[in-house]
Amino acid sequence: MATCKYCAKEFDDSTPEDILVHAPCAITQLEEMEQSFDLRWKADMRAIKMWQEGHPERELTWPDHADMVVWLLTALDESIKLQSHYAILLNMHDGGQRMPFDTLNKWIARLHEIGVLK
Ligand SMILES: [Zn+2]
Repeated sequence: MATCKYCAKEFDDSTPEDILVHAPCAITQLEEMEQSFDLRWKADMRAIKMWQEGHPERELTWPDHADMVVWLLTALDESIKLQSHYAILLNMHDGGQRMPFDTLNKWIARLHEIGVLK
């Protein structure tokens, strides 16, 4: 006996008919894995392109994944500090209500609040 990795039902893996019953499960699981892979691939390609644009001397290099994530988080962190600095300056100048963010998590929470991140 075996357990279908998709529907979790038991079947006799020595019987071709039983194996065939779960062929659609295997196909559905494969399609879901492909969709997941495509999402990850596209996100990685966007991140690699950003990293390469930030390293023009290494435009053909594919960075180590951990190095790239650290680099992108550092860039995000620095851009939030810059945004907050200018929000405060501009509010002082024109009395506006721009929101500064002192932590990355507060910025992420704001992006969820306005529906940019889900
Ligand atoms: Zn199944």
